[in-house]
Amino acid sequence: MKAAVFYKPGDLRVEEVEKPTPRSGEILIKNVVALTCGTDLKMFLRGHPYVKPPIIMGHEFSGVIEEVGGDVSTFQVGDRVVSVNSAPCGTCVYCKLGRFNLCERLDEFIIGFSVDGAYAEYVRVPSRIVKYNVYRLPDNLEHEVAALLEPFSCVVRGHRAIHIDVGDTVTILGAGPIGLMHMMLARNSNAGKIIVIDVSWDRLRFAEKLGADVVINPNEEDVSSRVKGETGGLGADIVIEAVGNPDVWETAIKLSRKGGKVLFFGGPPRGTAVSIDTYRIHYEEVMVQGSFHFTPEDVLRAFKIICSGRLPLKDLITGKAKIEDILSVFERLKEGKEIKVALTF
Ligand SMILES: [Zn+2]
Ligand SMILES: [Zn+2]
Repeated sequence: MKAAVFYKPGDLRVEEVEKPTPRSGEILIKNVVALTCGTDLKMFLRGHPYVKPPIIMGHEFSGVIEEVGGDVSTFQVGDRVVSVNSAPCGTCVYCKLGRFNLCERLDEFIIGFSVDGAYAEYVRVPSRIVKYNVYRLPDNLEHEVAALLEPFSCVVRGHRAIHIDVGDTVTILGAGPIGLMHMMLARNSNAGKIIVIDVSWDRLRFAEKLGADVVINPNEEDVSSRVKGETGGLGADIVIEAVGNPDVWETAIKLSRKGGKVLFFGGPPRGTAVSIDTYRIHYEEVMVQGSFHFTPEDVLRAFKIICSGRLPLKDLITGKAKIEDILSVFERLKEGKEIKVALTF
């Protein structure tokens, strides 16, 4: 089968590899579509701590079950399905505590990171993922929208952690796919004004089209004073950092009103330190919240929203390409010309 294999930063090759066979508890999916993700681009450019190359890249996908391994009774050949890239082990101390996203054995089987991924004609789904995080598509759900389940589950987790109230002013730093999904969910939660900040005018224009009330480019104006101006001098009720850059983390804290909430959604590398004015946290009760990955409950809830068709998630897919063209697709993503590209095989 055809697959895009990652060898080292800057070295991704589309080549013929052996078609996998599902083992006990596993399923083999024939991919209809795989989506690009900022993490894949980052991996291509700089590598990734979970990844031991060579490995097939790609972790957002949807397709049709080609084969099932022994002991699989919940799915059948021919089912249209979507799978996320990982699942908790169910037995470690964090799983026992119900903190499934913090599972100590999460990284053992992550599709596209620690096991072969979805930039390929076929992908084998490990048994624990089959058990927790694979869903059958309703007839009216397109594969390319379903394939957003993985990133959208992460966004749903963050959203559930921060509880946007009706009328809240929400400021989102970063207008990539993740920031835009946060924006859609905030709109759906009846947020008041939504302010989106990004350094790319292409992405800001896109955010505007999808419903941002105010867009700000920090290369052209002072973000703090503009957000103050837009919020009656107070700052935002909710601030969401969706960039993963330490400078942006520091900015995020400054944009919150007293008693506001800041969600740190983008993760800088381990060991990164940021400087925070303690006055904000103590005297002004700014609440800070991290959010990592998702639990099976988040995936279930995300899937229900996707199936409802209520959010314009399909608009996030701005291009289509064949897997052979993956390198030029990454180039366009790097330039901010695309939000997500649907790859076919
Ligand atoms: Zn992703
Ligand atoms: Zn676990």
